[in-house]
Amino acid sequence: MKSKVTTRRRKTVKVRLAGDPILTTVCYSVLPGEDVSHITRDMMNIITNNPRCVGISANQVGYDKRIVIVRTGPKSTLALINPIIRCESEDDDMLIEGCLSYHGKQKEISRPVGIKLDYEDISGKLKYDVEFHGFVARIIQHEIDHLNGKCKVDVIG
Ligand SMILES: [Zn+2]
Repeated sequence: MKSKVTTRRRKTVKVRLAGDPILTTVCYSVLPGEDVSHITRDMMNIITNNPRCVGISANQVGYDKRIVIVRTGPKSTLALINPIIRCESEDDDMLIEGCLSYHGKQKEISRPVGIKLDYEDISGKLKYDVEFHGFVARIIQHEIDHLNGKCKVDVIG
């Protein structure tokens, strides 16, 4: 008798939700040469399967590492390892933000329109003073908040 075997290539990645302690954890820097490909793969899995997801932090998928992936266009993404905001524009703007980890919550949040960022790319190469503006700059700031164990969408007032 043949048994029907369904093979699963890998576990389904789940987004961590409100109340999960990893969302309020300050993430650790990725070390030089550290293999984080399993983490970025899980993060990409979420972005690919959630068309409305414009960015994700490693702790939202369960890893306390300083990694962010942002959607930069309809079919393009950018992974930021150990991102540090070096400089912020003087002008702010307001926009309503939501978050995959805090379903149903939305909040109008003021943020600098532009930022300059140092980070490492996926191959570990250092990038300095890279400028981001507008929506992508906003997503990056939202995701860096997550790496610091915070989400402004969840803050009252
Ligand atoms: Zn979020």
